[in-house]
Amino acid sequence: MRCPYCFHDETSVIDSRDTDEMQITRRRRECLKCKKRFTTYERAEMVELFVIKKDGRREKFDRGKLKGGILKACEKRPIPLEKIEKLTDEIERTLLKREKTEVKSTFIGEIVSKKLYRLDPVAYVRFASVYRDFGDINQFKKEIQEMLKRRKK
Ligand SMILES: [Zn+2]
Repeated sequence: MRCPYCFHDETSVIDSRDTDEMQITRRRRECLKCKKRFTTYERAEMVELFVIKKDGRREKFDRGKLKGGILKACEKRPIPLEKIEKLTDEIERTLLKREKTEVKSTFIGEIVSKKLYRLDPVAYVRFASVYRDFGDINQFKKEIQEMLKRRKK
């Protein structure tokens, strides 16, 4: 672990504690050279997870991609970045908790849809329109009408 101040690579750990989120360990470190202190968040090596795409292709699960999709759906919506980060974490955790090495992209799509549905209707519709691949405008209209009905209840 390199010191962020002087880039010396020997530091000592002065405090270590596990956070409940995502097996992340928070460590308070001190640089052995300049003696400055800093905090690191270290994530344990995680299970390899593969995503099975609609066409059967297999791709390594990419948290960045997941977050990118959510960010895109939430573009210009009044949603703070930290909420998007939290949402991404929750989804990632759900996937890793299944303890399976493969997950269908449609399954991920369903989870993201559900979360966005609760978060922001516009983001939800945007996401659903890409992920469900609405073939025609009527199908899309139907989806929105159903959503509005559900929201009124
Ligand atoms: Zn240092």
